[in-house]
Formats: sequence, structure tokens, C-alpha cells
Amino acid sequence: MDELTVAQQQQLQHKLSILKEELQLLLTESVASSQTVDLDQPIGRLSRMDALQQQAMAKANRAGHQQRLILVESALLAIKQERYGECRRCEEPIGYPRLNARPESPFCLDCQQQSEKIN
Ligand SMILES: [Zn+2]
Repeated sequence: MDELTVAQQQQLQHKLSILKEELQLLLTESVASSQTVDLDQPIGRLSRMDALQQQAMAKANRAGHQQRLILVESALLAIKQERYGECRRCEEPIGYPRLNARPESPFCLDCQQQSEKIN
């Protein structure tokens, strides 16, 4: 894989800062919406199960957003430290196509697939 050009890195940095704002917004909103589900309300068994399910989904979404935000923030830090676009594991360039699809990727495709096999 080729290393990023200056223009590509700038474009990805821009994407990352937008992504960071979006995730922060989503996390703020999900705090507000999870507080509106009051399980002590007499709402019947089925709707109570719905509410619980929704709450569990919101919680899972939230965990996913939080995890992604951490990756986005560390990618932004990597740009500052001039090591963005480099795989954290094998230190090879991750490559623009992959970063364009997921700018917060800390690993190249090979290393990502290997770590998914282990888990
Ligand atoms: Zn790698």
C-alpha cells in the first residue's frame, strides 16, 4: 500500500473531525433518550419488554459509538504525531481506500482480519 499524500491526509482529518462531532452528538442524545424510559410506569407486560429491549439496544449502540469515538480520537492524535495511516501492528501503510471507508482504522486489513480470527 502507498503512504497517504498530504491532500489525502487533510481530507481524512476533516472526515475524522466531522465523525467526532457526530459521535459526540449521538452520545449526548442517547443519554437523554435512555433517561426517558421509565420502567416503573405501569405500561403492561409487552410494552415493558419492548422498553427493555429498546433500552438494551440503545445501550449496545452507545457502547459502539463510545468505542468508535475512542478510535476517532486516537486517529486524530496520530495525525498530530505524524504517524497516521500507519498500521499499529505491522507498521505498514494502511492505504487510502481503507482509510477513506473507515478513517479511524488503526490496523491494515491483514492485521484487522487476523485479530478478528483470534477473538
Ligand atoms: Zn498491519
